[in-house]
Amino acid sequence: MQGNTEKQVTAQNLNIRAAKAISDTVKSTLGPAGMDKMMVDGGGGVIVTNDGATILQSLDIAHPGAKMIVEAANTQESMCYDGTTSTVVLAGQLLANSDTLFEKGIHPNIVCKGYRQASRWATEHLETLSVEAKAYLKKVAQTAITGKSLESSMEYVSSLCVEAVENAKGEYDKIRVLCQPGGALDDSYCFKGVVIHKEFIMPNMSPNPNGSAILVNTGLKNEKMDDNVQVQFQSAQEFQTYKKETGRDVWVKKAEMIAGHLPDGGVVFSRETVNEVLASLLARNNISVAHRIPESDMTALSHLLETPVYHSPEDIQGAGKGTINQEIIGDMKYIVVEGDADVTTLVLRGATRQTLDETERGFEDALGVVSIAYKTGNVVTGGGSTFISMAQLLRNRAAEIGGRQQMAIEAFAESLEVIPATIAENAGHDPLDTILALRSEHALGNFQYGPDVETGGICDMSEAGVWEPLNLVRQCIQSASEVSISILRIDDIVSKKPQDGQV
Ligand code: ADP
Ligand code: MG
Repeated sequence: MQGNTEKQVTAQNLNIRAAKAISDTVKSTLGPAGMDKMMVDGGGGVIVTNDGATILQSLDIAHPGAKMIVEAANTQESMCYDGTTSTVVLAGQLLANSDTLFEKGIHPNIVCKGYRQASRWATEHLETLSVEAKAYLKKVAQTAITGKSLESSMEYVSSLCVEAVENAKGEYDKIRVLCQPGGALDDSYCFKGVVIHKEFIMPNMSPNPNGSAILVNTGLKNEKMDDNVQVQFQSAQEFQTYKKETGRDVWVKKAEMIAGHLPDGGVVFSRETVNEVLASLLARNNISVAHRIPESDMTALSHLLETPVYHSPEDIQGAGKGTINQEIIGDMKYIVVEGDADVTTLVLRGATRQTLDETERGFEDALGVVSIAYKTGNVVTGGGSTFISMAQLLRNRAAEIGGRQQMAIEAFAESLEVIPATIAENAGHDPLDTILALRSEHALGNFQYGPDVETGGICDMSEAGVWEPLNLVRQCIQSASEVSISILRIDDIVSKKPQDGQV
């Protein structure tokens, strides 16, 4: 039988070791000079990426402690779109440093208390380092894509990102990305509108230039009948009524109903399939039809054309306005809808599907961070400069607390330095020299200094144009410290009985 302390040490050790293993996996990808990972699945599928979130999502992880770390990275990704590698690396270091404290006989509860206090002080200090985001949006985009495949077209890509975010007024959800292989990255563009991967039902249908459009969910297709249905009629009149309700007359009525709202023609976008008879009747009224439009496209169209998605043709109350055209992008036909609302589409071009996938991931990160900076309004210098500054503050303040908790706060401070150290190390420079140089520069009050990845020395990150959203760094500190604390508080791992329904 294991003693209590022994059990605790084992569970903690296992969790810390598992978490460290995850952190070590992604560590070498951190920063502008980070390496890529090639991931291969059982079926031979290959992904080459530098993106921490993508790597973590693809890892086949079984250990519960490691899973908690991945969960923290997912939170970071969903809230800030970036900073996942930093979160995992920081959490790994916090856990590794707590191990040293345990060896000195400090109780996990004291470590957790110290970490909690340190996280609070660090994030408070972080706020004082921030400046207003507006002038730095392009720099934020550039910082997010350094080290990614997009770097070669840095200037163009960052302008596109800022344009898209400004069009969408910072609403990430209103930015849509369309990837079309063929062409070069520099052929990518951004416009206010939506691209729908559909064609109009009738090949010769062409939309009315005045661009009125109606969005309908259902009610334009044949009702499904089971095979071999027999219908009995009591009288000839009943048969006539049935024919009227199910036959061509129904479509004539529906076509009239719709045409009434589109007197000068226009377009009907339908979520469901549209009956061909109805489509041809509408075509006579100069109304084009596009059907089986995915729900997300319907929502975007609704924002863009400023008209609701009506449930059925009976509910229609009016049409929305926009410019609607059929266009060929690459070798595919699309319906391109332009309007004045905040909805924005980025059309990305690239040589192959594989490079385009990595391009898309890079854009998603960049668009995400720029929209966070735009919406939350504050940015800080990157390259781990803020981490050095926070570490310094913690060392200065640790003595206020005193006792053993002070040691936990100092361990937290040291952990923070892992970010700039790793950025320098991955660029092929000495992490210790970099940290020592940064500490003395920061002691002089130059709080924007970070690692110079080119020369191996240090430099002013604001002059180097390395900026990131304040919220991104704050969330990274909070997620990393919360997950470390949760893991440190676990003193035993027990097998759980499967729940009903689970095998
Ligand atoms: P994450 O998944 O944490 O975003 P990245 O690999 O994208 O990991 O690296 C992000 C880190 O690299 C941030 O700390 C960022 O400030 C830093 N960084 C980006 N560009 C530079 C640069 N030119 N010089 C130094 N640090 C940089
Ligand atoms: Mg990043």
